[in-house]
Amino acid sequence: MYEKITKVKFFFSSNKFYVPMRCFGKKQQHRDIIFLPFFVTLKLRFKQMEKDLELLQFPDERLRRVSKPVESFDAGLMALSDSMLRIMYESRGIGLAAPQINHPIRMIVIDISEDRNNPLIFVNPKLTSFGGNIESNEGCLSVPEIRTTVKRHKTINLLAQNIDGSEVNIEADDLLSICIQHEIDHLDGKLFIDYVPNIKLQRLRKKIAKQKKLSNNQTPQGTTVSIV
Ligand code: ZN
Repeated sequence: MYEKITKVKFFFSSNKFYVPMRCFGKKQQHRDIIFLPFFVTLKLRFKQMEKDLELLQFPDERLRRVSKPVESFDAGLMALSDSMLRIMYESRGIGLAAPQINHPIRMIVIDISEDRNNPLIFVNPKLTSFGGNIESNEGCLSVPEIRTTVKRHKTINLLAQNIDGSEVNIEADDLLSICIQHEIDHLDGKLFIDYVPNIKLQRLRKKIAKQKKLSNNQTPQGTTVSIV
């Protein structure tokens, strides 16, 4: 989900743990063990992973897949959630779902705080109840340049898991409620423009096609734009 945010902060942490990395000489005669700082090896792993990440954009059919429940709460899931947060912050979004970066699993990340320092990660999120109505003016990182009004539930109860697999149960209203509903829709292959009445949708589709044409002139890869 996208909202205009001007302040973006990044936090880096380093630590003193080191891991061994085997290094072979060109002639295979020398075999040394060198030590690289843990954060360097981690960064290399992330770089490799992020090479494979792409932000899918409408009308890419992969956005229409129903995502699978997460069963393993391992280091790979943690790394993916870190990448999702990074992409969300760099794109100035307030929410991102894993299928948007071509990982069709049920995980979403959100940060609606003004200072951009309150990241939320929900795995296998489900609404257990909802009430009231609210109109929201929404945008989406996967449908750039388009904003439209969508009717959502005002309050929701959410049952989900944290990144470590522990259970979380929260009540949310207003912007957080809207954002959670928007991101869960992505997990079910639904986009916010699906709520728009047909006549208005035709106008939007024309606008999207026009945007697409313009952006294709800049990025010839087709329906996707590489993150890195
Ligand atoms: Zn979205």
